[in-house]
Order: sequence, then C-alpha cells, then structure tokens
Amino acid sequence: MTHAPVLPGATICFLGDGQLGKMSLMAAHQLGYKTIVWYPSDKNGNNGPAMEMATHRLTAPFYDATFDSSAAIDEVIRKADVITTEWENVPLSLIRELERRGAIVRPSSRVLEVAQSRFREKMMAGELDIPTTKTAWVPANTIVNHDWPEYLPGILKTDGQGYDGKGQYPVNNVEGFIAAHQKAAVDCVLEKRVDLAFELSVLVARNVSGEISVSDVVENAHINGILDRTVWPVKDRGFTRSKLQEACDYAMKVAEHLGLEGVLCLEFFVDMEGNLLFNEMAPRPHNSFHGSIEAAHTSQFEQHIRAVCGLPLGYVKFHTPFKMQNLIGGNWEENWAPVLHDINARLHLYGKSESRPGRKMGHVTTLELNR
Ligand code: ADP
Ligand code: MG
Repeated sequence: MTHAPVLPGATICFLGDGQLGKMSLMAAHQLGYKTIVWYPSDKNGNNGPAMEMATHRLTAPFYDATFDSSAAIDEVIRKADVITTEWENVPLSLIRELERRGAIVRPSSRVLEVAQSRFREKMMAGELDIPTTKTAWVPANTIVNHDWPEYLPGILKTDGQGYDGKGQYPVNNVEGFIAAHQKAAVDCVLEKRVDLAFELSVLVARNVSGEISVSDVVENAHINGILDRTVWPVKDRGFTRSKLQEACDYAMKVAEHLGLEGVLCLEFFVDMEGNLLFNEMAPRPHNSFHGSIEAAHTSQFEQHIRAVCGLPLGYVKFHTPFKMQNLIGGNWEENWAPVLHDINARLHLYGKSESRPGRKMGHVTTLELNR
C-alpha cells in the first residue's frame, strides 16, 4: 500500500452523489483537486447534488444483473488517483473489485464492511470494550431463541441500509416484535430502548501514515429519528466533560482498530444515569458536523479530502459556538427565506430536484458572533 500523498492536481473519485459528496467536492476543488462522481441516476433520470459540480461524471449502475460494470470500473481506475465514498452503502463487491484491481480506495472495504451492518458495529464495540446498547441479532425469517423481554421495549432495526430513522420499528412487547420482524422481512437487530438524556457525536480522521485527529464533540437533537439540530459547545450538565473525553477516546480506538483512512463519525447516546453508549458509526462526513464549515479551523469535508489523500490532517475543533439547523422537506420552503436576514446565519441549500417529507434539503449554521 502506497504512503505517497495524492497531491493537489490529482483526481479524486466519489462514489455517491448526495449533499455530503457535494460539500466534499467543494473542499476538493478548493484544494486544487479534480473530481469524478460515479452514481446511477435515479428512476426519473435526475442527478443528485454532487454530480452537477464534478469535473467528470459517470452515470452508470454500480452493478445489477443486467449491467456489466467493468467498463465503468476501467474508466474510474484510469482517471482517478484515489477513490472514496460519501455513502457507506456502496456495494461491497464493487469496493472489493476496485481494490483487487489495485485502486486506492479510502476508506477500505474492511471499514465499509463493518459500517454496513449495525450488528457488526455493535460486535466491534464489544471487542473494544466500548459500552453500547443491549442488542440482539434477529436474522430474516427466523426468530432465534432469546429471552426477548430483556430487549423490550425496544426498536427493531434493519441490519443494513437504514438512515434517517428508516427501517426502524418501535416495539413494546413480544407480539409487536414478531409482527414487526415479519414486516421487515430482512436481517435485523433488536435494540433495547434507551431512556435518552441527550445525544452526542464525534468525528475522527486518520490518514495512511497513521496520523489521527479527533474533533470536538457536538450535541444532537433528533425528531422522528432524523437529525433536527446540532449545537456546540455541548450543554454542561456537571458530568459532561468526562463523557466528551470518553467519546473522543473511543473514536480514536475505533479508527486505530479499523486502520481507517478517511473520516469516521461515531454517534453516542447518554442515558438518564449519565452512561455513554455507542449507537452507530458512519465512515464519511456526517450531518452533525456541517457546522464545521464555518465554525471550525478545518471543515469535516476538507478533513475528509486531507485524510483520503494522505495529506497532513487539519483541526476540526470549533473557534465559534454555533447552532446547525437542518432544513427538512415538508416545511423547509418557509424556513429558509428568513435566514437571509440574519447576518450570523450561513445558508446551504443542496439543490435537490425534488422535495419530499423527511428529505434533507439544506441546513443553516448560525454562528454566535457579536453583531
Ligand atoms: P439512523 O441510521 O437512522 O441514524 P439510529 O440508530 O441512529 O439510526 O437512530 C436514529 C435516532 O433514533 C437516534 O439518533 C435516536 O434519537 C433514536 N434511537 C435509535 N435507537 C434508539 C434506542 N435504542 N433508544 C432510544 N432512542 C433510539
Ligand atoms: Mg443515527
């Protein structure tokens, strides 16, 4: 594996074309890189936010029964110096094929394999002595023998593919669990419901030389399983400071363990007794760190580029307190225009072709600056 940095002027390929890709591309272009976005277009032939600003575009299925991806793979290998993802659910078989053909893919298939399965994430946490939610494996079509009431009331979650609360079924009793499991009809986990005091996240970066950098920890509030807003600094509740350090230590432990090359966000719950519990992770920039664009020394998107290119890492620590508010489809149309009158607000609209309830359409970061 090469340790030579991929220097500005080189080409970075992004698999995925959402808003995380768009903002990563903006950081890449600022640093003088060229970009390729590879993503299948949606059923209406629309492209996502990243595609339109890429230096090169590749619209082709990642793989399916009728599509031979080898021409697309050849093109990406020919044009790109490093390949990264803005989305952890890119087919693992594609990532492995790219690696097999000698492409530099960061993060690697090893990281994505864990991040594509809630259960593998929890098992890894167990191996690393990171406290997590009480979780049982529930394979599709079979209910293995467990003392289920131990996990109830709980949330049945699909093992893979979930985001923004999708693929989750709150269940209160064994009957509800069995009904939800039949409805899900895929491999799932059953997680005991945590009485949440608050939620935290932290972003860790590691590059190919083994340099590691951890961010400040932010506090998140969700509505219906979707991130609504993030604030920094985290509200001081007396015991908070030691929890923030614990979260950073766990993030660094996971990055080392996985040999991460890229950025990785870890989400945590804090329960009413003050216990920090690992929830899940994402090996990419994360919605809860959008405030880093304006409020941190280095944005998470630039950190992503630095990490995957093997450059010295930046510093995702905040110089200015902020609040980040998501603009979610359903009522975002009314919510963005007033922001233009606030001189401390920084508005981001992703330019998605269609607004749907629950879809992330943009965000606003409001800096706590003197007016
Ligand atoms: P997603 O991949 O959709 O982000 P999460 O597992 O992070 O899935 O769940 C989304 C949100 O739902 C969490 O941030 C939290 O607010 C709530 N939630 C998820 N699991 C639990 C749980 N076991 N107990 C309490 N709340 C939960
Ligand atoms: Mg989550």
